[in-house]
Amino acid sequence: MDRRDSLDAEDIARLAERIAGGERAALARAITLVESRREEHRARALALMERLMPRTGGALRLGITGVPGVGKSTLIDRFGANLVAGGHGVAVLAVDPSSARTGGALLADKTRMPELAGEKAAFIRPSPAAGTLGGVAARTREAMLVCEAAGFDVVIVETVGTGQSEIMVADMVDVFVALMLPGAGDELQGLKKGIVEIADIIAVNKAEGANAERAGRAAAELRAALSILAAGERRPAPVLSVSGLANEGLDSLWDAIAAFVGRQKASGAFPSRRAEQAVGWFRAMLTERLQARLFADGRGQEALRQLEEAVRQGRASPAAAVEAALSEAGL
Ligand code: GDP
Repeated sequence: MDRRDSLDAEDIARLAERIAGGERAALARAITLVESRREEHRARALALMERLMPRTGGALRLGITGVPGVGKSTLIDRFGANLVAGGHGVAVLAVDPSSARTGGALLADKTRMPELAGEKAAFIRPSPAAGTLGGVAARTREAMLVCEAAGFDVVIVETVGTGQSEIMVADMVDVFVALMLPGAGDELQGLKKGIVEIADIIAVNKAEGANAERAGRAAAELRAALSILAAGERRPAPVLSVSGLANEGLDSLWDAIAAFVGRQKASGAFPSRRAEQAVGWFRAMLTERLQARLFADGRGQEALRQLEEAVRQGRASPAAAVEAALSEAGL
């Protein structure tokens, strides 16, 4: 039996203590445990989370999204290093359900965040590789809580601009920042995809040197479009120009984040957003766990796959397939 399999209650208590003491190896081990999809690891992960919960909730949870190439790694590397220089502890996690398919975690990659990776006060963890988007999100949420318990006061969750994963990440953070590129109609693309509707702050990136003017125009266009969208009903998301590469505008980005959080706290929206998120996590996790438990074995998974295929080919209606799946699971 693997050492990790034999974690008993006492070991869990010790692991929790080591995490609280900021021990890096304990943190990595705990995240591996919460990311495990094995049933027997689940119970231990749960016991660990119960122990850690009282130590969570103190960090700022920050989501960062943007299309591949927008400059997420570069920006998070610099931004994170600035925060560390300012005395913060920064953890970077990722939600990227495609990383299993593409065979490599493109997000929260240590080699792409060299400055932050060398910092003692920083921790970088790529996306859990396997599973559905919901499963990846669930494990990332738990990893986020483990990082909070370990004392990191800023947790950054990175994701790519692919609709669903953005919504998942927006649902687990206090502040959601969308990075955009100047020009090339990206401003409008963002509007169309509805990213700007869930973004609390928008940053037009790569705005240094010769790009500054173009970025400034893009930011102004976005600002105008946002104020029309908001129609005076809510405060439009602030739009900033930044450059991760040149380390420009990143202090203003932090100020905008702090101002947003300050307003949310003053209005009471901050705790209610977290409370609603917690209920949402409960529902999502319940669904995920029920599904995992009902179709845990190879036979169950095969039955599920066949039913999905029948629905795909139009041989079964979704409703009929649900009934068949439930009866397959003995319900
Ligand atoms: P990601 O895919 O969103 O993580 O983007 P990367 O951080 O890997 O950056 C993609 C490319 O854009 C790389 O070639 C970077 O060097 C470049 N890049 C990133 N940030 C900036 C920036 O602020 N300005 C400029 N000019 N290039 C940047």
